[in-house]
Amino acid sequence: MRKTTVLVLDAFHDNMSRISAAVRPFASAVMLAETFDEAKRLIAEARPQVILAADDLPGLGHPSELVSLINSCKLPAQIVVLTRDPDFERGMDLVAAGAFMVLALPLNVEKLRSVVKKILDSYDIFNSITTRSPLDIEKELAIYKCLASHQELVPLVDSIRLAASQLFEGAKVEVELGPDFEPSIPKEAEGDDPMISFEPGEWRGPHVETHKFCWKGEALGSLTISYPNGGPASTKLDQDTLDELVWAASLHLYQAKRYQDALQLASKDHLTGLLNRRSFSESLSREFAKADRHNTPLSLLMLDLDHFKGINDNFGHQAGDEILRWLSGLISKTIRYGDLAFRIGGEEFAVILPWADEEQARILAERLQEALAGDQGLKLAHLVRPTVSQGIATMKHFLIKTPEDLIYWSDQAMYLAKKEGRNSIRLLTDLQDKTNFEDNHYVFQ
Ligand code: GH3
Ligand code: MG
Ligand code: MG
Repeated sequence: MRKTTVLVLDAFHDNMSRISAAVRPFASAVMLAETFDEAKRLIAEARPQVILAADDLPGLGHPSELVSLINSCKLPAQIVVLTRDPDFERGMDLVAAGAFMVLALPLNVEKLRSVVKKILDSYDIFNSITTRSPLDIEKELAIYKCLASHQELVPLVDSIRLAASQLFEGAKVEVELGPDFEPSIPKEAEGDDPMISFEPGEWRGPHVETHKFCWKGEALGSLTISYPNGGPASTKLDQDTLDELVWAASLHLYQAKRYQDALQLASKDHLTGLLNRRSFSESLSREFAKADRHNTPLSLLMLDLDHFKGINDNFGHQAGDEILRWLSGLISKTIRYGDLAFRIGGEEFAVILPWADEEQARILAERLQEALAGDQGLKLAHLVRPTVSQGIATMKHFLIKTPEDLIYWSDQAMYLAKKEGRNSIRLLTDLQDKTNFEDNHYVFQ
């Protein structure tokens, strides 16, 4: 863990304890001083990274004295001044003199925390940059321009490849993801005995070098650079540039991976592992637009468990959950590659069927019905044999103009299946025979 010391300067005990409690989770040490003299001693001895200072600290003539003190000690500490004085101009003067920020008292604890966290994060970046040798600024810019602002893994990998190709002209660049990568040796570089070396100056023959992307101990992938024709004219700068690229790419890959994990978690239903309602709307809009553009079929299947409330009441909620998981497993097993299954409500499911017309969707619904009736995987099968009502709507129908229409009409078809006895399948065209569609107005007859 990074070592961070926060120094709190305030003569009021109440204030002091609130401030130190707020920042303690981020700091390895919190120190307190009640006068400017004590503060001077602690600044010299403890060399804090963050100083939170009340501007009415006894002995302190003007808070800018504190800023001058820090500047004269050449400490990279950041000072946040806490003030009861609402005079904005004075606050701006302090920031101009070198304070990080001026916060008003009484204190907004959340704001203080976010300010301290921001300072400490910037230290992490500062430390990692200052421990590196200076780079050719153009090359550094090229790296960051390529990597900046990609949150998703795939475009990020392309950008890393592009950055490396631009920086090492004439080299073959391979980027691989994942912890179990093998260094890849591009075909052109394979000689009888490709030399793998990290020593600049010794490069001869087909030269291949592989670097790991690694961040916070997590292996993220690798970068392989190969020079098919005798290797580059190596310089110290090349090595530093490569180090910088690997460092920056590792950080970005780590963040992109966290983002991807979070996205995946956010799109899954916890109980069943199917996709959830949130991703249903997004996926349906996307598939609808695709089918519209390519003039391909698209169907939507809605399923609702029959008398599920009764099952819960008779056998308990846990048994109900077991049935939901079992049904989800059956749906996943039955659908084709490219179909998308969602749990969109308590005991309601939806399946998006790209490429399926009404007839193909009906066949799938029948297969599901059969699977439910015959599957041996349900532990409670000797007590209960759950059934579902299913409704289907297909894009080609004249009533379907938007993704919402598809949801509405497949839902209506499902309600018709309920109404006509449950454990059955109904299509939008079945509704048509029983309804008055004047002005798109729908009435059961
Ligand atoms: P119908 O055949 O008309 O669909 O009747 P139903 O009983 O299935 O429908 P209703 O909408 O009356 O009840 C749905 C039930 O689903 C009520 C609720 O207790 C149950 N349910 C919803 N979410 C969950 C869940 O996550 N776990 C369990 N065990 N039950 C759930
Ligand atoms: Mg329901
Ligand atoms: Mg139900």
